[in-house]
Amino acid sequence: MPQAFYVTTPIYYVNDAPHIGHAYTTVATDFIARWHRQRQEDVWFLTGTDEHGEKVLRTAQANGVTPQEWADRLVETAWKPVLQTIDASNDDFIRTTEDRHVERVKEFIQHLYDKGEIFEGTYEGYYCVACEEYKQPGDLVEGTGEYAGQLVCSIHGRPVEKLSETNYFFRMSAYTERLLDFYEQNPGFVQPESARNEVLAFVRQGLQDLSISRSTFDWGITVPWDESHIIYVWVDALLNYATAAGYGADEEKFARTWPADIHFVGKDILRFHAVIWPAMLMAADVPLPQKVFAHGWLLVGGEKMSKSKLTGIAPAQITDTFGSDAFRYYFLRAIAFGNDGSFSWEDIAARYQAELANGLGNLASRVAAMIGRYFDGALPAPGPQTDAETALAAVAAKAVQDADAAVDRVAPHEALAAVWTLVDAANGYITEQQPWAVAKDEAQHERLATILYSSAEALRVLAVLLNPVMPKATAKLWESLGAEKALGTLSAQPVADAGRWGQLVAGAEVTKGDALFPRLELNGD
Ligand SMILES: [Zn+2]
Repeated sequence: MPQAFYVTTPIYYVNDAPHIGHAYTTVATDFIARWHRQRQEDVWFLTGTDEHGEKVLRTAQANGVTPQEWADRLVETAWKPVLQTIDASNDDFIRTTEDRHVERVKEFIQHLYDKGEIFEGTYEGYYCVACEEYKQPGDLVEGTGEYAGQLVCSIHGRPVEKLSETNYFFRMSAYTERLLDFYEQNPGFVQPESARNEVLAFVRQGLQDLSISRSTFDWGITVPWDESHIIYVWVDALLNYATAAGYGADEEKFARTWPADIHFVGKDILRFHAVIWPAMLMAADVPLPQKVFAHGWLLVGGEKMSKSKLTGIAPAQITDTFGSDAFRYYFLRAIAFGNDGSFSWEDIAARYQAELANGLGNLASRVAAMIGRYFDGALPAPGPQTDAETALAAVAAKAVQDADAAVDRVAPHEALAAVWTLVDAANGYITEQQPWAVAKDEAQHERLATILYSSAEALRVLAVLLNPVMPKATAKLWESLGAEKALGTLSAQPVADAGRWGQLVAGAEVTKGDALFPRLELNGD
């Protein structure tokens, strides 16, 4: 059985409502999943929610409900709906409170305990409630403002608590050398390079054993051999990638999906995924994922997006104006994936107008309108090709290759830049060939046919290449080209074959539908 291409988002913490930082991660993962599906690969795309831990418990208590009720409410009213808002095509959605997860986590931990990988000990350290993590001294900074004179978490800027507890430890210190060897032999495991360097520097200091249980609160998965403890929420959460894939329950599914090809994460949770997770898997003799890719932070007004800092923007605030396709396109195109990126309303509005409405949308509507006007809406058969058509076809073929290669580098921004060379080339081709002028000369009817057929071919290639990023607009474009009947569904068009010129069938019914990217009605314009 062929191995599935398995990609994941992190599971999102139900303590928060989704903001565009979460949606960015999901859209990037979704784009990669859809691209691989467009290659006609078997793909499995997982997302879900992380529902245990002290923060959820405290938030639920503050809202006067049980943590399970709180999680249910957030999942149903916020986390699942946002997937519709941004057009995510996930194959599964795992919740860490589901039995299929809880039972397998217990088995996994019991397995490590039985193997002697877990021991009982006393832990004393500085704990950040927001991180749900004991912090190393190097992770703490001097507080400022109201926290001046105290040590605060460098991520959250909030004071840490000094805690001491008896709990269970995973012998992670035993994995320092094995992990370093693994990173050495698998240089692509942590990406981008900056993330890899950070992980290497961290592990080279030597790993400490990891406290994997808590006994001060009870919202979590019970430690199977000691019911007075629950499993540390991060250990519970990381295991979602395996439990959802059938670990310990569905061997056939697990064999088909595991190991994961890419775990997409924000850089703030890199160490959990690139250090703790592979160490846990090594301890359990489970193969390691292929890649952990850490993307940068989304900045608004120069600050990391976060609900607590009031910079959180809900995805629907953007999609209500621009639509889900433009949302997806914007974040993947405007930010070099892996780096931090800034969001601004001005920037998305400018790109919408220039690249989507004028660049792509106008191209599609002009070509369809001219085929309607000059050929009664029937795609004309092309005559002999000139250098101009050969050049356009070459740009298309190169765009396909370059975009496909960029996806393998996990560089969506480069993939879209490559696709846009064809948008620009097709617009330039029409400007130079002036079909509206050629149409005035009856003797040049065949030349006119060639120009419009070639323009339609460029649009066909664009529909295939852009389907993973703007599924709604490309479905309309495919329909408009009359391609469904001649070539089959858009999703069935293999990327590798997209650049083969001349696939559209003469006589196909070309229709000018609604604008792919309608003009915006912006307040204050
Ligand atoms: Zn923190």
